[in-house]
Amino acid sequence: MRSFAGAAELTTAQLREAPVHWPRPSVLDVSLQVIPGVGPKLAAAAAEAGISTVGDLLYRVPHSYRDREDVRALADLEPGEEATVLVEVVGPHPRPFRKRGGLSILTAKVEDETGSARATWFNQPWLAEKMSPGTALLLVGSRDKRGFRVTAHEFLATGGGEEGSPRTDTPARPQDSPPPRLRSARGVPPGIHTTGLVPVHSATEELKPQRIREWAWRACEWAPNAVEGLPAEIRARRNLAAVGDALRGAHFPASAEDLAAARERLAFEELFLHQAILATRKRTQRRARPAPRFGKPGELVGPWIDSLPFELTVDQLGALDDVDADIDRGEPMQRLLMGEVGSGKTVVAVYAMLRALEAGFQAVLMAPTETLAEQHALTLDRLLGAEAIPFALLTGATPAAARKRALGQLASGELGLAVGTHALIEPTVRFARLGLSVVDEQHRFGVEQRRALDEKGVEGMAPHVLHMTATPIPRTLSLTAYGDLDTTALHQLPAGRMPVETRLIDEEQRGEAFEFIRRRLREGRQAFVVCPLVTLSDKQPGRAAEAEAERLRAGELRDFEVGLLHGQMHSTEKAAAMCAFAAGETDVLVATTVIEVGIDVANATVMVIEGAERFGVSQLHQLRGRVGRGEHPSQCLLFSERAGELARKRLQAVAGETDGFRLAEVDLGLRGEGEILGTRQSGLPRFAVASLPEDMPTLLAAREEVLELLRRHGSLEDAALGPLLDAARRRFGAGAADPIPL
Ligand code: ADP
Ligand code: MG
Repeated sequence: MRSFAGAAELTTAQLREAPVHWPRPSVLDVSLQVIPGVGPKLAAAAAEAGISTVGDLLYRVPHSYRDREDVRALADLEPGEEATVLVEVVGPHPRPFRKRGGLSILTAKVEDETGSARATWFNQPWLAEKMSPGTALLLVGSRDKRGFRVTAHEFLATGGGEEGSPRTDTPARPQDSPPPRLRSARGVPPGIHTTGLVPVHSATEELKPQRIREWAWRACEWAPNAVEGLPAEIRARRNLAAVGDALRGAHFPASAEDLAAARERLAFEELFLHQAILATRKRTQRRARPAPRFGKPGELVGPWIDSLPFELTVDQLGALDDVDADIDRGEPMQRLLMGEVGSGKTVVAVYAMLRALEAGFQAVLMAPTETLAEQHALTLDRLLGAEAIPFALLTGATPAAARKRALGQLASGELGLAVGTHALIEPTVRFARLGLSVVDEQHRFGVEQRRALDEKGVEGMAPHVLHMTATPIPRTLSLTAYGDLDTTALHQLPAGRMPVETRLIDEEQRGEAFEFIRRRLREGRQAFVVCPLVTLSDKQPGRAAEAEAERLRAGELRDFEVGLLHGQMHSTEKAAAMCAFAAGETDVLVATTVIEVGIDVANATVMVIEGAERFGVSQLHQLRGRVGRGEHPSQCLLFSERAGELARKRLQAVAGETDGFRLAEVDLGLRGEGEILGTRQSGLPRFAVASLPEDMPTLLAAREEVLELLRRHGSLEDAALGPLLDAARRRFGAGAADPIPL
């Protein structure tokens, strides 16, 4: 017989001794105050840090470990070497003294069998009272000419744990109690702070690491009551330890191997339970209301595809297949179509809309801005022109008469297709038989707005939804934050797109860069200059578009026509600015990010981005996608004022990588780094143990197991799966798996 999920043979004695144990999960829900020494004040401080119950504490595994090895002999220490020693206080009762400047120093003579030294503590005068000749101590620190400088300490045996917390009844070291060479201590788990792999927790003012460590020690006593969320079969097949053992192993590992096994098990469980929640929520949502079945492709789409002036890319064809499968399932399609600007998403959207139309339903395309909606209307005109299929355009700018007519025709079903902005979801807009909606730049709509569109479907049915985004979402995110959407990616750009050379430009290279831009302009090309803000403000000294346009007209670009485009302009002014640029009447278009989407000028080959460090990686990538659309080589120049190190790394990533999906994955890694610095959100759910994107292979494995269980059991609620979903809800809560808007 072997220990469960372990390689070690069990002896008969061990088997006989093994406790028969039924977990009592409720034990983990009790307040931290059951731990001796934890009163209301400390409990409140812990709650502030997110630790209210014994279970919270158990699942708050250390973020790292300090490897303290074993106790060393004082005489063997090299100068400056950090080590742990086991010593006794000798000589007179130590007394702290205060230096000028306020530094308090406490020294005590200590010795072990091999020698003695003067141990020094800084700014901990209260320790003096706890020391008298004979006090046993474990000290971490290093030796120098003056003595032994203490960085961590632990009182042993003679009782009176640090800061008065009772220590005498602390349980024995869970794994291999007690560590061999330290039997001297009476009832205390000696060495948990100073020897072996010492767990490190993030501390706060009130919650010293030492304290958390001691509590965790006590909590480990109750670890066997943790709910085993992993089905036994998966646990056995994957050789994963029981949850209680893994928790103890993560808090107080006996060895590096133990630690690795414990963390792997906990990371797997965490990702598995999260995927279980996502999968369950997805099924519940999809089955809440049925969706119309559109059947097989009909008489409309075939000729339409033949009428297109280009061949569809392999990725586009794959996307059409995905859509075909989704819309004939009886459950609403919830698919996210990702592809860079120009990758041909609109063609896929129009296909889906035509499939609705030929099945006798209506379809809409909703875009976040007027500009984009108008752009889509132009595209639809072009793509549907040959078939002469009518559609309505509904935006805030639609004249009242046209709007009234469109509303009437949509309500009667006379008109099958509509394109527009939020104007489409106003209560006055009614559809006779809305069967499918396409939401472009879906992350720019709120949940409420998307829901409002869903509500406009045929009574009792949910419309199919195709979400589109030009922001490539890394797989890590689409499987966690976005786990409830199916995804399709258009990686290939349609033929004829040129790669854009991207360069970082320092302040000193400005003059040179503008020399280059003027050369291109003289050759007949055009350029964009993107600025982070519309007007100058004191707080954000960014080069605002308006001021920059003025400046360029008078300065570097005085020989050229400079146009201006920003979101606060009236829509007719915006349209005029865009038309002038598209027609080549202006050479340069100074703009805010409104040009991020929607403008297609093949002759524009230079993209200047001012204050590039203020933009996100994917935003920069999208912006540069506005050039490289014609036959001429294109450049993107990233001007940055004062980029910090992280910002610089991000800009370098943009310059070095042209594939948007790979770039997004790099960005996520960097943002993870940024999050540690507390500056940014990574968009990933918070896991206690798992860390993404590093744990991607574990995530994929966990997801595969969840899908397999679903295939085999039909639902994760199946009694045969035990407390799986309970454990998942307990860990992530009911709302924890809500999608995170990107
Ligand atoms: P997106 O919405 O992803 O930004 P669009 O669908 O608007 O991209 O396509 C960009 C341009 O490329 C449009 O002019 C479109 O007609 C064209 N296009 C789309 N698919 C192809 C293709 N397979 N081959 C060539 N051109 C294409
Ligand atoms: Mg588009």
